[in-house]
Amino acid sequence: MKTPLASLLLALLVPGTLLSSPEKSDDPANLPRKRVLFFTKSSGYEHSVIKDPSKPFTPAPGSAVPGLAFQILKTMGAKNNIEFVFSKDGSLFKPAYLAQFDAFFFYTTGDLTEAGTDGNPPMTPEGKAAFLQAIFDGKGFIGTHSATDTFHSHGGKEMAGDRFREDGDNADAYIKMIGGEFIKHGKQQQSHLIVIDPKFPGIIDVPTDNREMEEWYSMKDFASNLHVLLVQDTSGMTGIEYERPNYPSTWARMYGQGRVFYTNLGHRDDVWTSPMFQSVLAGGIEWAVGRADADVTPNIDQAAPQANVLPAWPAPTPDAQKK
Ligand SMILES: [Zn+2]
Repeated sequence: MKTPLASLLLALLVPGTLLSSPEKSDDPANLPRKRVLFFTKSSGYEHSVIKDPSKPFTPAPGSAVPGLAFQILKTMGAKNNIEFVFSKDGSLFKPAYLAQFDAFFFYTTGDLTEAGTDGNPPMTPEGKAAFLQAIFDGKGFIGTHSATDTFHSHGGKEMAGDRFREDGDNADAYIKMIGGEFIKHGKQQQSHLIVIDPKFPGIIDVPTDNREMEEWYSMKDFASNLHVLLVQDTSGMTGIEYERPNYPSTWARMYGQGRVFYTNLGHRDDVWTSPMFQSVLAGGIEWAVGRADADVTPNIDQAAPQANVLPAWPAPTPDAQKK
């Protein structure tokens, strides 16, 4: 424990520390405990990092450790005084169950009201509505990567032309909450993220010359009140998915009273283990559960003014022409 004299000396040596009380610690371990549901049902594609390690396993590209995300969150939770509850059971989504959490963290795919790929129990439509209402009324939400490949808007479930069009008011209610919808990804490649708001918790740790290898999501249906934190720099990217102006990669926004954070990072093992991703994620969680504050004034019009200019739908295949 630091003595008052040691705290004063530290304050003189380290700029900024003098403003805070010597008794106050910024260590998240001393902050009020928070409870976060890490929900990983995969009604569509099931990612390696959220697979049940006890089940047979075929690694996804860039991933070799089943359930790696669970290991990392356990460590992060112990360090930051957050209890992560892991579940793939959508049938639990009822008001009394949802009420026990401070925030919901989704790494999911597909229509979660269907049993789908992993066969885990789906949400009821009422459960989905209760979940969205809980956020609207003030719970936090965190989404990584395929959280935007979840509850596709009407007509957008299949990989066809509708995926490459804006849905506007017809976007799914979940998409209207998270603030964006996955279109498609190309081959994994290194890409640059433009740092827009280094003041937001965790974003300070993203180097301006970052260049991560990742499976990058191209997205649409961006909410007009996004506070963009990182922008996908499409210059130099390979693939029709990225033949578009820059668009938001990572953002924070308000949904009613609820704080919503999303990043399109999170496919590869080496992204999950990188200090940069872990800082971005930890910062987003701290903000979403209300232990950190930030200015989330909408900035999408300045940060990514052409975010709604989408890539062209690739030449129709014979299958698609039948529709
Ligand atoms: Zn992925």
